[in-house]
Amino acid sequence: MTTTTPGKPGNTEWTERYTGALMNTFGPPKTVLVRGEGAHVWDADGREYVDLLGGIAVNALGHAHPRLVAAVTEQLQTLGHISNFFASAPQITLAERLVALLGTEARVFFTNSGAEANEAAFKLTRRTGRTKIVATEGSFHGRTMGALALTSKLAYREPFEPLPGDVVFVPYGDIAALEAAVDTDTAAVLVEPVQGEAGVVVPPRDYLPAAQRIAHDNGALLWLDEIQTGIGRTGTWFAHQNPELVDAPVVPDIITLAKGLAGGIPIGACIATHGSGKLFDPGNHGTTFGGNPVAAAAALAVLDTIEADGLLDETVARGRQLVDAVASLPEVAAVHGAGLLLGVELVDPIAVEVAAAALDAGFIVNAATPHRVRLAPPLVLTEADVRAFGDAWAGILGRAHEGVTA
Ligand SMILES: *Cc1c(COP(=O)(O)O)cnc(C)c1O
Repeated sequence: MTTTTPGKPGNTEWTERYTGALMNTFGPPKTVLVRGEGAHVWDADGREYVDLLGGIAVNALGHAHPRLVAAVTEQLQTLGHISNFFASAPQITLAERLVALLGTEARVFFTNSGAEANEAAFKLTRRTGRTKIVATEGSFHGRTMGALALTSKLAYREPFEPLPGDVVFVPYGDIAALEAAVDTDTAAVLVEPVQGEAGVVVPPRDYLPAAQRIAHDNGALLWLDEIQTGIGRTGTWFAHQNPELVDAPVVPDIITLAKGLAGGIPIGACIATHGSGKLFDPGNHGTTFGGNPVAAAAALAVLDTIEADGLLDETVARGRQLVDAVASLPEVAAVHGAGLLLGVELVDPIAVEVAAAALDAGFIVNAATPHRVRLAPPLVLTEADVRAFGDAWAGILGRAHEGVTA
């Protein structure tokens, strides 16, 4: 069904124009979206979708949330951008709020993206006087040169080598491998609490506490990349605070954030605790846009709304409902993750076909790996949205199978 209005370009025309004007880094777009509301989006042909990906774990409040729209509008009407020669109330307030959510003394550096937050953290670790970083296989930390050096995937790395050095990779979730790799030359141990890009891979519950102990025994920093898992995604403010994911309290030395933080307005943050926030001296790092008042006001609106609307509890409840909706079919081997960061592990490697069949049926999901479909919907996803997906799920899997065997 298409409801293209005459004179208004539809998906086909927009896609042709996209191909002519944009670099081919992402492959052809799945569809061209024109508007959104809550967890729903509409494409240029007028088709409606339930968005179960949320711009890759970004649109925490869904699309066009009135509180986010109001906060951004009001801030832009008041003071849109200043340089970091100056400070603004939203920037300061946001830093204070993030430190309070962590519940420990900390300092914040704001950026515009996840990769930049990790670049800031990477530079911060060099200020320990050590250079070695122990990272994990299957990791994803971004596409800039430094962040790429920390990312294990060969297909991403190899075309751009040589990358900044002294990074070693150990199997994810393997405590003995960390014990063997971390030494007194190690500046930091870098871990994602859950590996999102790898298809939502969850380590054992004693992994992060062990990583903290091993890092600290060697005088190294524990650096958690919570860019995908932070800001309520797993049902707690930070994944390292989630008892579903960790069996003992962890206080990382560095936390990097981005995706969900401002609900879709570009922002990132590098937060350092235990005095590590004082490792940078004036002139050591900088940014023109980072801490921008509009982005900071957006992030404050996200934090306020998560709190005021009880979205952490909602995330846990919707996540459970979503697991129940997809887990029972024989094609599903397991569902991994917590809250609204879920990896549906398929028996057969047909995640790409499942994502295509889902889109066809009006649902946006992501084929993170051939065996894993990732779901990272807005935290405002409704019970009815999940029910609709559950009702369509068997048909989606059936059509994906036909697509493979046809
Ligand atoms: C998305 C992501 C990044 C990179 O963030 P960008 O904003 O795309 O640069 C880094 N680390 C993790 C864990 C991510 O999920």
